[in-house]
Amino acid sequence: MPAETQDVYIETDFEVVIGLEVHSQLLTKSKMFCTCSTGYANAAPNTHVCPICMGMPGVLPVINRQAIAYTIMTALALNCNIPAYSKFDRKNYSYPDLMKGYQISQYDVPLSKDGYLTVERNGQTRKIGITRVHLEEDTARLLHHEGYSLIDVNRSGTPLMEIVSEPDMRSPEEARLYMQKLREILVYLGVSSGRMEEGSLRCDANISIRPRGQQKLGVKTEIKNMNSFRSVERALEYEAQRQIAMARAGETIHQETRGWVETKGITVSQRSKEQAHDYRYFPEPDLPPLLISREWVEELRAALPELPDARRARAKAASNWLLTAVVRLLKANAITIQSSPLSPASLANLLDLLDKGRINGTQAKEVLDEAFTTGELPAAIVEKRGLKPPISDQGELNRVIEGVITSNPKSVHDYRAGKTNALQYLVGQVMKQTRGQAKAEIVQKLLRAQLDEDPST
Ligand SMILES: [Zn+2]
Repeated sequence: MPAETQDVYIETDFEVVIGLEVHSQLLTKSKMFCTCSTGYANAAPNTHVCPICMGMPGVLPVINRQAIAYTIMTALALNCNIPAYSKFDRKNYSYPDLMKGYQISQYDVPLSKDGYLTVERNGQTRKIGITRVHLEEDTARLLHHEGYSLIDVNRSGTPLMEIVSEPDMRSPEEARLYMQKLREILVYLGVSSGRMEEGSLRCDANISIRPRGQQKLGVKTEIKNMNSFRSVERALEYEAQRQIAMARAGETIHQETRGWVETKGITVSQRSKEQAHDYRYFPEPDLPPLLISREWVEELRAALPELPDARRARAKAASNWLLTAVVRLLKANAITIQSSPLSPASLANLLDLLDKGRINGTQAKEVLDEAFTTGELPAAIVEKRGLKPPISDQGELNRVIEGVITSNPKSVHDYRAGKTNALQYLVGQVMKQTRGQAKAEIVQKLLRAQLDEDPST
């Protein structure tokens, strides 16, 4: 396997298709169905347990409302639909880390579906579909030793949110970007610690290849055990190359689960399709169905914090002003930003005035010049100079133009006779009357429209 494999397959005749299943523990105080604390990170094994998360017979789980709220918030941030009705199901399988012999999860009616997330790569934006965001419970932890294994039940029953993407990613790099973007959103929302290295955020990937241009999906493999963004990308690079090499050699790719071995930089087979579980899902009889009121959904939507993309867009304006106008002034005055009279609050005030349409870009530059020299607050400069917001209302502008046309019959006559200077004179009159608050090109356009339309004047 070449060391530098990035983008190699992109030039090949094969297309890589990737979908991710991301699990995130939720930052609730208590577990999903009992009152045990989720703060077990530094606790001794098996100290945060009770009959419910130990899976004792006869106990009754109770749904953690905060976990549902966090899942809905995440789904809203990922542009998903929230159905009015949802429910929990039993996923039956037997494994030592599963206390009850089944996991409470969601099968056919998840808490949300049909969303998307956008990722940016080389200045291009790609939309990655989100199939669903649902809620389940985490399992216990197995600690393997030479010849025996130990079990720590502290993690069992921790709320675990699963975010399933559509097979929309076309390169390992894109998968990493998706994962990073998703993590950023979860951390912004305050629903996840986002710590992949600690296992509170985990990622499984489905990957297949197909001849470029073919619609039908190829046979996929599922990759597990990737615990960093880098390992997600590396594992998928390796797996894409492995599948392409097999296809080239005429070998058949089998559906299987493969584990990423970080130290060796390879994926190894863990379980074939024949060994796949039949989970025998059925509705969880110990829990009531979930009726999600629209009022609650809207309440949660209104409480969402500003998301990373929105914040970046907002910061873009500030960075533009900093990198162009402010840098120009610093250079012209040969001073550093620390020693300039312009404070961050002053720049923020200027951007605020611009944002509210109180001044336009040209006025803002003049105000910045003065604020930079005097250290005065832009709002105070605007007030002192009597600056008015630019006229953008066409109706108002047309009324001024009408007045100018009526009171300048000679210039109007000259314009219609083909003297172009006359138009400039009329534009000047309108600019004078609006005290420079209108844009010359708009004035000219509106003026022409009136002059050309009504020859009887
Ligand atoms: Zn418990």
